[in-house]
Amino acid sequence: MSRNDAAALAKSAEDHLWMHFTRHGDGVAAPPVIVRGDGAYVWDANGKRYLDGLAGLFAVQVGHGRQELAEAAAKQSRELAYFPLWGTAHPAAIELAERMVVGAPGDLNRVFFTVSGGESVETAWKLAKQYFKLRGKPTKHKVVSRSLAYHGTSAGALSITGLPGAKQDFEPLVPSALKVPNTNFYRAPEHGDDHAAFGRWAADQIAQAIEFEGPDTVAAVFLEPVQNTGGCFPPPPGYFERVREICDRYDVLLVSDEVICAFGRLGFDYGANRYGYRPDMITTAKGMTSGYAPLGAVLISDRIMEPFRDGKATFLHGSTYGGHPVSCAVALANLDIFEREDVYGHVLLNEDAFRSTVERLLDLPIVGDVRGAGFFYGIELVKDKATKETFTPEESERVLRGYLSSALFENGLYCRADDRGEPVVQLSPPLICDQAHFDEMEAILRVALTTAWDKL
Ligand code: PLP
Repeated sequence: MSRNDAAALAKSAEDHLWMHFTRHGDGVAAPPVIVRGDGAYVWDANGKRYLDGLAGLFAVQVGHGRQELAEAAAKQSRELAYFPLWGTAHPAAIELAERMVVGAPGDLNRVFFTVSGGESVETAWKLAKQYFKLRGKPTKHKVVSRSLAYHGTSAGALSITGLPGAKQDFEPLVPSALKVPNTNFYRAPEHGDDHAAFGRWAADQIAQAIEFEGPDTVAAVFLEPVQNTGGCFPPPPGYFERVREICDRYDVLLVSDEVICAFGRLGFDYGANRYGYRPDMITTAKGMTSGYAPLGAVLISDRIMEPFRDGKATFLHGSTYGGHPVSCAVALANLDIFEREDVYGHVLLNEDAFRSTVERLLDLPIVGDVRGAGFFYGIELVKDKATKETFTPEESERVLRGYLSSALFENGLYCRADDRGEPVVQLSPPLICDQAHFDEMEAILRVALTTAWDKL
């Protein structure tokens, strides 16, 4: 099979490739085959260009085609392609850990490297459990997370995930993972316009869950700075301040899951810095390397590290490729680009323009809400703006999956139409995008959403 033969590639993918979270089989179109990227754009095997409105999968912060990152990988491969972090260390991991803790909130001075976001979440839960065992509180093992929130697919991370539909085929999962409401203000009519009251209420749901379960049984709370699934729910004012108080009151660890929200997605190194809170751990991945190599990490506070420093206690956890030298070298080169090009500053300077460009779509009858922060927005679709009536399952199937997803793609925009909560379109483009890209996204969305309305 030739790599230049678009039809042969698609046929071979259909025959042999099992794609993630993807329907296969009769009546399902062959997958698009993406062969090349440059800046904010990717090209398929037929030579057609698409604006990458999702940064691959919330990852490609500095855009596609960066030779500098490819060269960093090649250089590290030539020097030391691989060595583990099991009792040995290598310079790329050492340097990266040191650089990552510089701007980290509070006393997060320790980095445990993984390969992916889900593995980082899994690691943080296990670490929370052992931490409390070492501190003489062996029954503290449960975790709290929010409705709809996605935290990964391995058994532990999937238990923390708040999407019943993503879990039911794999139950029973790891027990002891409790769910509380998320911060979807658009769907919280009882709080009127009072964001702060809603934030207090939402935070207090965590306190209530801890009380109901027994504080002596709860180890950690996992929250994203801006929750992705459901369509970008930012924290209401005061929310994280109150969550921090609750965690302190009950001796429960606060884990900020920043697999998406770190490394510039919200215009800051860490999402917790944008909202001014101090987590006990940060889980991250994706944008660390801008997607040029797989890598994840957990940033850990001195307080959690402390009982592991007696010379005998061991965290019996790790993986062959966690902190792979090539990935760490790529991450370092990626951080160099962030600094040199002031990528975070670019996001902060342009986020209002991005938001107001997307908000132009609010003049369409199908667009109920636009929400998010930084370069991370969700557009919620409704059948009736006044009542906020949402799609029926049949309409979601026919209009969202049957039309909108493919229409956006065919019109040259790669983004995500999702109905794991209410139907939303999500935008999370490379952090190098500017007004011309925002306009292009808006124009393609306008055409497709107008037709979607007609089809409802
Ligand atoms: N946590 C969050 C908040 C995520 O958004 C994701 C993936 O999108 C994960 C965890 C899992 O990351 P990965 O797919 O790298 O395992």
